[in-house]
Amino acid sequence: MTREIGHYINGKKVAGTSGRFADVFNPATGEVQAKVSLATKDELDAAVAAAAKAQVGWEATNPQKRARVMMKFVTLLNRDMDKLAEVLSSEHGKTFADAKGDVQRGLEVIEYCIGAPQLLKGEFTDSAGSGIDVYSMRQALGVVAGITPFNFPAMIPLWKMGPALACGNAMILKPSERDPSVPMMLAELLTEAGLPDGVLQVINGDKDSVDAILDNETVQAVGFVGSTPIAHYIYSRATANGKRCQCFGGAKNHMIIMPDADMDQAADALIGAGYGAAGERCMAISVAVPVGEETANKLIEKLVPRIEKLKVGPYTAGADVDYGPVITGAAKENILSMVETGVEQGAELVVDGRGFSLQGYEDGFFVGPHLFDKVTTDMDIYKKEIFGPVLSCVRAQTYEEALGYAMDHEYGNGTAIFTRDGDAARDFAKRINIGMVGINVPIPVPLAYHTFGGWKKSGFGDLNQHGPDAFKFYTRTKTVTARWPSGIKEGGEFSIPVME
Ligand code: NAD
Repeated sequence: MTREIGHYINGKKVAGTSGRFADVFNPATGEVQAKVSLATKDELDAAVAAAAKAQVGWEATNPQKRARVMMKFVTLLNRDMDKLAEVLSSEHGKTFADAKGDVQRGLEVIEYCIGAPQLLKGEFTDSAGSGIDVYSMRQALGVVAGITPFNFPAMIPLWKMGPALACGNAMILKPSERDPSVPMMLAELLTEAGLPDGVLQVINGDKDSVDAILDNETVQAVGFVGSTPIAHYIYSRATANGKRCQCFGGAKNHMIIMPDADMDQAADALIGAGYGAAGERCMAISVAVPVGEETANKLIEKLVPRIEKLKVGPYTAGADVDYGPVITGAAKENILSMVETGVEQGAELVVDGRGFSLQGYEDGFFVGPHLFDKVTTDMDIYKKEIFGPVLSCVRAQTYEEALGYAMDHEYGNGTAIFTRDGDAARDFAKRINIGMVGINVPIPVPLAYHTFGGWKKSGFGDLNQHGPDAFKFYTRTKTVTARWPSGIKEGGEFSIPVME
């Protein structure tokens, strides 16, 4: 019998009732290891109604007590770190060390959320007018929803649930149906940490449950992370239904390598950022832009032996593996067909991973590393997000040309420049129209107390994820103007009060 994964509702795991399921694979072997139930609209609506009831008491719990639940949650995440990482690797395929990083970068946002009492403090103006005080407060929205992708099954759900719950909301989390077990474990840990039942509901599902979220009148806000077409769809439908919405999408991150860069450092950075997690990171570098022919030649010369030494394998092989399989057989086919397109459209395939096969794991979703050189901006491999271990090199003759490539691309998630020239780095950081910038840092994912978000087609809506923005996204401001009898003038006032 295949294991069934249901939902987490009102503080416990429950079986799904839809009779519809999606396969959860072990990407290293290609075997189906579980089936996850796909919720119906009725299941979603019932979970939202229960969450709305639970939210009232949770919002009334003072912020310090809510923060203590977060504090306990951090302790439990640390206690179960290895267990979570093991399950994460088995469903996602990333290495054990990388899976621990996935949990850790989420945990750091929960640590930030322990500051909720401070972060939720309002503003106060004493004597704004004669006998008048003005103050503002940040109040919870009610029930909010998080819809998350497969590639960070711990980190991104934690980015959503931490701030939403710390602000006093209830949350419906709809994780990716590809690797749903870790989000379920996170919900169990929150119950153990003292979160009241119903305040976090995990609903597994696909488009049906997402659409039910978008159309449910009780859901006040939606935070989404995933591919751009779905981000755009969710943003349009949620906002048309009057919801607050932030949707983060796909990416094509460029790294510019200036002639003065340390070429070994740049090549090492590209190897990790291009091929780590099999390229399935929204902050992966997928385009290298060396400036000048000599820089390009040196870079390719340094990259090729490093790529040829990459160790691809299952997470069970431990530290002997640099990256694991991709998420599904369909993802593998899509990546390899993009590689074929690159070859047909004239890019130079300098490292060809197409024949890659791993003995004993022939049915696993492993993809060998690929490196394309002399890629041009009209090619599909340049325009589209491949989301696999495929790095493209676009040669630029000048800094301005390189900057232009990154500026003109429709995605704007992350970017990096490698240089020793402070002026060039400063100019780049100032002018680039991309949300997250690295200077000699290939994957500039901001820390928990800063904010994360892409520009252009990588992000719809304002306010970023985590950091102070998250506390703004998950609350609304109420402003009170107060006057007591001693300050009230006699008689009616018929014109708008102004400050004279
Ligand atoms: P995806 O868009 O396929 O799925 C994301 C979520 O949307 C899942 O929960 C899924 O069930 C749901 N979904 C899928 N199709 C839907 C539909 N037709 N209608 C409604 N809901 C639907 O993304 P993915 O493959 O899970 O994740 C990879 C993508 O996420 C990449 O494009 C990557 O760049 C992006 N990503 C972006 C960020 C960021 O912060 N910008 C972070 C991580 C991943």
